[in-house]
Amino acid sequence: MAATLIDGRAVAKAFKEEIAQRTQVMIAQGVTPHLAVVLVGENPASQVYVRNKENGCIKAGIRSTVIRLEESCTQQELEDTVKRLNEDESVHGILVQLPLPRHLDEAAVLRLIDPDKDVDGFHAMNSGRLMNGQPGFVPCTPLGVMKLLEQYGIDPKGKHAVVIGRSNIVGKPMAMLLLAANATVTICHSRTQNLAEITRQADILVAAVGRANFVTADMVRPGAAVIDVGINRVDGKIVGDVDFDAVAEVAGYITPVPGGVGQMTIAMLLANTLDAAAKRGR
Ligand code: NAP
Repeated sequence: MAATLIDGRAVAKAFKEEIAQRTQVMIAQGVTPHLAVVLVGENPASQVYVRNKENGCIKAGIRSTVIRLEESCTQQELEDTVKRLNEDESVHGILVQLPLPRHLDEAAVLRLIDPDKDVDGFHAMNSGRLMNGQPGFVPCTPLGVMKLLEQYGIDPKGKHAVVIGRSNIVGKPMAMLLLAANATVTICHSRTQNLAEITRQADILVAAVGRANFVTADMVRPGAAVIDVGINRVDGKIVGDVDFDAVAEVAGYITPVPGGVGQMTIAMLLANTLDAAAKRGR
């Protein structure tokens, strides 16, 4: 393997240790950071993600409450739950686990979350702040990617960053963060023509597609930093969007899946929760 492995597990561990220390300081000052997660239904992947978030909180000393609602819950029940959490002074961060069952209006629910408790950074107020270059909560996965780049001394300034994917959760905020870090940014999606031609120009290539082995070695410029956000289940195994073995021979840096970006997502969620608590605690 020619590429340097970007070890998300190690970087996330260091972040989590620092977060745990900051949490203890806050608790000593009388504020216990508290994350409330709303989980609707029985989606197996969501159950795993919520359990991981809960464990992350417990290890860091952050209080965690998981509110489980039936798959059949109504929009009103879900909205009432969010409103109650907005009003609960002991709750600093609120996260509604996505995707929601299809009969529920996701956008309406996200709109209801108090932007100052929106630790996932999905509220339009926070995406607007990111767009305008104002401080606010930034979605955890792209934020985690930026921290990984920073830790490995990969400065986006003046580089061509190509993001494959334009979701509100990953692709768009990722592009905004890279732009804010002075990269020249190209966003690609399912209607992009000549994708490989564009990705081959990338100094930093972020794959957030949701298709196993989508990024192949011929799509990567030699020496590029390749960041794999994808989480795909293939034959019971978790794999990313990047054909890891082949791309690792061409790239300068590469994140593994698992053990890369995913590890950072939870660390950033904890960091955002702590920031929310610090703002309220003042
Ligand atoms: P998403 O909402 O499904 O978005 C996927 C994006 O990929 C869309 O913008 C889509 O384009 C684009 N795309 C699909 N097929 C393409 C193609 N053939 N060529 C170019 N672009 C194509 O997914 P997401 O929520 O952003 O998540 C992306 C991946 O990241 C998933 O595997 C997800 O599980 C993973 N993820 C990981 C973490 C983590 O913590 N590591 C967190 C969140 C998500 P259109 O917009 O044109 O449809």
